[in-house]
This record gives sequence, C-alpha cells and structure tokens, in this order.
Amino acid sequence: MKVPLLDLKAQYKTIKKEIDEALIGVAESQSCILGPDVANIEKNLCSYLDSKYSIGVSSGTDALLIALMAIDIKPDDEVIIPTYSFFATAGVVSRLNAKPVFIDSDPVSFNLDPAGLKRLITKKTKAIVPVHLYGQSCDMDGIMDVAKEFGLKVIEDAAQSIGTQYKDGRKVGNIGDIGCFSFYPSKNLGCFGDGGLVTTNNEELAEKLRILRVHGGKPKYYHKIIGGNFRLDAIQAAVLNVKLPHLDSWTKKRQQNADLYTKYFIEAGLAEETGRIKYDEKNEVLLPKPVYREYNLKYYHIYNQYVIRVSKRDELRKNLAENEIGTEIYYPVPFHMQECFSYLGYKTGQFPVSEWCAKDSVALPIYPELTNEQIEFTVRTIKNFIS
Ligand SMILES: *Cc1c(COP(=O)(O)O)cnc(C)c1O
Repeated sequence: MKVPLLDLKAQYKTIKKEIDEALIGVAESQSCILGPDVANIEKNLCSYLDSKYSIGVSSGTDALLIALMAIDIKPDDEVIIPTYSFFATAGVVSRLNAKPVFIDSDPVSFNLDPAGLKRLITKKTKAIVPVHLYGQSCDMDGIMDVAKEFGLKVIEDAAQSIGTQYKDGRKVGNIGDIGCFSFYPSKNLGCFGDGGLVTTNNEELAEKLRILRVHGGKPKYYHKIIGGNFRLDAIQAAVLNVKLPHLDSWTKKRQQNADLYTKYFIEAGLAEETGRIKYDEKNEVLLPKPVYREYNLKYYHIYNQYVIRVSKRDELRKNLAENEIGTEIYYPVPFHMQECFSYLGYKTGQFPVSEWCAKDSVALPIYPELTNEQIEFTVRTIKNFIS
C-alpha cells in the first residue's frame, strides 16, 4: 500500500470545478497583481483569524522579512528565535544584518521554551520570534510576559499554524505585534505557488506593512521608506478564496487522523494512552502531545505535521521508504549547528533539546485525504520494525 507524505492531487480533485473557474476568472480579468481577489482573501482571513488587518504578501519568508522591517529591525539588533525551526525564521534576521540569538525548545511541544528567555536579553534585544511549530501554539503567556517586561516586539511565525488557538481560545498570529503565515502548498491552507500573509491589530503597523509591500512608496513613486516587491499574486489569492471555506473541515480530518494514529499506536503497545509519553530504550515511540488539549478547544493543534520521536529514526525511515510510506525530517540541523551561522560562535551541545529533536523526530503522513487503512498500515509497519 502506497502512503505518500502528502497528496495534493487528492485535494485538488475534491474542489477542481471551483478552482478551475477561479483560475479562468483571473485569466479573463487580467487583473494579476493585487486587485479584488487579494482584497477578498485579506478580508476573509481577517475574519478567519480574528485579526483587524491582514496583508497578503509573496511568501511566508517575505511575511517574516516585512514584519521585521516594519518594526525597524536594524543592523546589530538582536532577535531571539528558536534554534529548531524552518530556515526562514533565522534567515530573515541575518538578511537585515541583525543578529539571531538562539533559544532551546521544550521537549514535549517542540516550541521555544520561555524559561530560557530572560537570560538572553541584552540592551540590543529588540524582538522575539516564537514559531508555532507543526500546528501547535507556543506558550504565549510566558513569551508575552517577558516581552512586556523588557519592551520587546513579538513577531509570531505562524506559517504552520493557520487557525491554531492558544489555550484561552485566541488565534495565533494575533497575540504578538505581527503574525506571519505561509501559503506554501504543503501548509494547511496552500496556494498554487508561493504566497503569505501578515496580520496585525495595530493600525499604524498595518499601514507600514502595506507601504513596505510596494517598495515603500506612498503615494506611488514617492518614498519615505525602503520596501520591496512583497505582493501576493491575484491567481494565488483566487485559489485561496476557493480553499478557505474548506479549511476547517480539512483541519478536522487532520485532527481525526492524529487521533487514529494515537489509537493504533496504543493498540500496538507503542504508546500508553492519549498524549502520554512512552520513550525509552525498549518502547521507542514518543507521540505528539497536544499541550493545550485539556482546554477542550476545537483547534488545540491543527497538525500541519504529525511528528513522532523514535530512537532509531534513520533506520526506521529507510524501512518505511521500502514499504512506500513517505516521511520527512523537520528539521535535521538546528540553526546553531548550521555552517552559515558558525560566525555566531555557538557550539554543538549548547541546545540539547533541539539537538535531540533533530536526531530522533520524523514526520508521518497526516494530510486530510489519508485513509484509515493507510494510517493503520503505517503504524503496523512501524510496529514490525521496532519489535
Ligand atoms: C513554511 C515556513 C516558512 C516559510 O514560508 P514560505 O512560504 O515557504 O516562504 C517560515 N517559517 C516556518 C516555520 C515555515 O514552516
């Protein structure tokens, strides 16, 4: 049985007619840059994300970049980010000649552990970029408390967490100063290429983000600030407008798939009970634990990725590949061990939790169209490998 990591064709099949019409609509209008489709998705995402302002941009990476530009990150400013994330989170800080300052993760949620924040703060610290990894919210109270105490800005990297709620029900991206989202095809809400979004509840920041998106010019050709071309294409917006009404049902399917994995892992004797961790030499599977599940939220975790941890990760991946089961590692090398950041002077061993996650975590297929049989087969294959 083939179990691909992701099957975007399966999703397209279910909405083909609407998507094709929307694409033809853009072709016929020839309004290809910004325009009514972009205005529409911005409006719809404001209400979906409970944010006052949202601005469509060219990618999730550019969302992070433009957010840091909007809060005036300058050369030599320090920005605290998790060492365990997708490269863009760190890359954008360096591209502004600011200094990324790394922090370790919490072993259960994989998200940055606010316990370590205070001791990293210096006179140069300007911002914290928490990443809501895999679809689950960071401990935002812990982060916002420190940000408030030291007057720091908070830019949320919510690229993997569209619609995720924090424990109090607030949607992520809406808790700090600016939220950054990605519409890369593998994200829960994906377009047909690159796309992204920034959200804010601050009118001044929203205006600045809008101006930065078009080279910093307002009115056109008159520049008080330097921006870039960070625009979202109409064709991507048209696709997103078709997909957004389906997002909640797709997310629900991902959550049901995650519950099924848990059930099968328990039945296979590889995990003890929902959310419980069982990880030692003999029983080598650690399941993703929805940290805020006890609050009974509808979206405690949107499962952009379903990541388990196993001690013989690389051998297991090879075995799964032989059985035509797709997996991926998010992410094999934490930032402090990347060659390009060696100039920062970090050492291997400095962030043990992140290094441990990088060594033993593996993402299993979780996309909405996955069947029960595929999930059951995946767990059975893992069980056979382990025992
Ligand atoms: C996908 C992703 C990004 C970047 O988004 P792109 O649209 O691919 O540029 C940034 N941060 C995280 C955590 C991501 O997963």
